[in-house]
Amino acid sequence: MFLLNRRTFLQTTAAGAALGLPAQAAPSSVDVFTASPMGAFVDSVVVVGDEAALVIDAQLTQADATQLADQIAATGRRLETVFITHIHPDHLMGIAVLNQRFSSVNYLAHPAIAEILAQMGNGMFENLKGNLGYAGGDSWVPPAPLDGPLELEGEAFEVLGPLHGDTPLITPVSLPQFDTLVASDIVYNGVDLWLAETVTDEAFAGWRSALDTLEARPEGTIIPGHKGAGTVDDRSGITHTRATLDGWEEALASASDRASLAQAMQEILGMDPQSFFAQNALNAVYPE
Ligand SMILES: [Zn+2]
Repeated sequence: MFLLNRRTFLQTTAAGAALGLPAQAAPSSVDVFTASPMGAFVDSVVVVGDEAALVIDAQLTQADATQLADQIAATGRRLETVFITHIHPDHLMGIAVLNQRFSSVNYLAHPAIAEILAQMGNGMFENLKGNLGYAGGDSWVPPAPLDGPLELEGEAFEVLGPLHGDTPLITPVSLPQFDTLVASDIVYNGVDLWLAETVTDEAFAGWRSALDTLEARPEGTIIPGHKGAGTVDDRSGITHTRATLDGWEEALASASDRASLAQAMQEILGMDPQSFFAQNALNAVYPE
């Protein structure tokens, strides 16, 4: 038996039937899941099609990944593809949960990113899983290299880059059907940035150049890699990220040792010097 949902029904009866074309339904919605504070407020994006779903980024902790899996299951769609935007664990440890909950899923990443994760992904999961709540049964798998367009039900999405963000290789995804750009960790909004990999002139220039690239794009909705409560998924994330980079550069220039840098981070950026992100940034400049 063939069930028609509303969209398929309209396409079948109207344009499709008139043109004698088979019904081809476009993806119907984009949902965002934002992690808990423990999961660093990372965003996962769920593109919901007529029968299948595509997810961009897979969360850090077992608890957040389980909530993401619940959200995917609640769509009633088959999870077909999970695309990973970069090599940071907060975007991909949750593959272990999705891999247990759903079968026959394609885990994909840009070839340059898949190559790195093929070498270090399993070790990263084994090192971190104890602190992230993963049970013994959870098994992580590395994403395979994307070797064609990223798509769902015949609709193609544009993988950008890799561009430089809070790490050198990040692949945002444009969803033009939804006027939406999944910016990943080139854009943060209303939360601290991961700054530990941004301590050289080249890294600052690379990140700012990527922000210029994204700012020039037409999409009205910009989903950041990490965001705080009450923020809006628009260009305000680009503004927040630029301002934080300016402040971080000012803090670096003004500091002469670890203590003065910690103080400058607090005064200029409002970062808690004891936070995980701040400690890693401090270690990158003045190792303990
Ligand atoms: Zn991240």
